[in-house]
Amino acid sequence: MQPTLGIVVPCYNEQEVLHDTIKELIRVIDSLIEKNLASASSKIFFVDDGSRDATWSLIEQATKSQKYVCGVKLAGNVGHQNALIAGLTAATDFCDVMISIDADLQDDVDVIEGMMVKYAQGSDIVYGVRKSRDTDTFFKKNSALLFYKLMNSLGAKTVYNHADYRLMSKRAVDQLLAYPERNMFIRGVVPLIGFRTDTVTYDRKARTAGESKYPLKKMISFAVDGITSFSVRPIRLIFFAGLLMLLATISVSIYTLIAYFSGTALPGWTSLMLSLWFIGSLLLIALGIIGEYIGKIYIEVKHRPRFLIEKCEVKENSDSTK
Ligand code: UDP
Ligand code: MG
Repeated sequence: MQPTLGIVVPCYNEQEVLHDTIKELIRVIDSLIEKNLASASSKIFFVDDGSRDATWSLIEQATKSQKYVCGVKLAGNVGHQNALIAGLTAATDFCDVMISIDADLQDDVDVIEGMMVKYAQGSDIVYGVRKSRDTDTFFKKNSALLFYKLMNSLGAKTVYNHADYRLMSKRAVDQLLAYPERNMFIRGVVPLIGFRTDTVTYDRKARTAGESKYPLKKMISFAVDGITSFSVRPIRLIFFAGLLMLLATISVSIYTLIAYFSGTALPGWTSLMLSLWFIGSLLLIALGIIGEYIGKIYIEVKHRPRFLIEKCEVKENSDSTK
């Protein structure tokens, strides 16, 4: 039995590219079916993320006139990550394996076949990884690199040069959906799931039509979201800054006292300097300590699953057969 594939495509104001995207994805599914890699009941889920242009009417039309095409219309714009979750939630009821891809087809659809082969070989998650960022602007390339480096140094495992183009088996998607957090940074959560993972590499193309829905403002808030929903290290930095300042206070105190006893200090300066530095470092340390508790609360309220079981083999109790 071939697996039923569900391709999930979040769309926000994508009327310019949708026609080509539908055509290309249908071609890919046709060829997968021909090669016995996917079943004929495979589907493409277009999720309209509250678009203000003709995106939904194009999707609706396609659901009637084209094979495989399904549509999910969200009531308003909830952002790329939430739209993706909505699509995966809809697809997991019908499919054995799901692939998420952007509507602009900047990611090479021809590696979908490679992903499906790796799935057939037993991988539960296959990451699409970009070979090069030649088509990106200098700014986007370097800001992305900086973001990955920062994320990883703060303790969130992300796959370098991987965005949201990936294959996930049904059980991997179900585990992903078991993370109930509101602020889901999917590419940070997926590596936490576990299971056997693999990668396929591809060249990312430039957008053919329409414009990026990630202007600088959104990119920054995405990066801040990614970091703050994975790491409490920034809070810890406050505490260490406090300790550093306490060390600095000691040297400043020595300097001020020398100035005081050698008579070069103006009256009142010594006491002011000493209390200023001391109170400053005390405040930072206090903030750091409070922050540690807030960090704990933050981790608790995420209600993340503590473990995910892949297999559980239990021996039949031999006594019960007596
Ligand atoms: N997108 C979405 N909701 C939004 C913003 C973007 O569903 O609020 C979709 C968009 O339609 C596209 C994908 O997310 O399919 C990635 O967006 P885009 O291609 O503009 O990002 P870029 O490739 O420039 O990083
Ligand atoms: Mg894009």
